[in-house]
Amino acid sequence: MVDIFDKIIDGEIPSYKVYEDEYVLAFLDISQVTPGHTLLIPKKHVTNIFDYDEETAKHVLLTLPKLTKAIKASDEKITGMNITSNNGESAGQTVLHSHWHLIPRFDDDNLNE
Ligand code: 5GP
Repeated sequence: MVDIFDKIIDGEIPSYKVYEDEYVLAFLDISQVTPGHTLLIPKKHVTNIFDYDEETAKHVLLTLPKLTKAIKASDEKITGMNITSNNGESAGQTVLHSHWHLIPRFDDDNLNE
């Protein structure tokens, strides 16, 4: 089944790409929780965490720290990062292609209130 993120990978739907290699793609979330909110996805169709093979998990996990550091380095006001993933519709997953939210945090973002 082709999902919206498959279309982003194929370029059928435009996105603001942050990072790309053979295995993964990172792009800005269309609805930014904070500036720089990025989604990291495997290019291989994996529905959610319950569906990962080891190879795909390896590529995503190796990318996460690199991407997190690169996003932080892009804005000196970023002081933290939330990394979350919703897995399954009961957990709030709305796009059924695995994705990891990287949400930059700022001292004055008021999200903890
Ligand atoms: P979920 O709710 O499944 O954890 O997250 C799905 C995310 O995908 C949401 O934060 C939503 O804003 C984002 N999203 C949905 N459609 C698009 C799109 O067409 N382009 C981009 N860049 N993000 C999208």
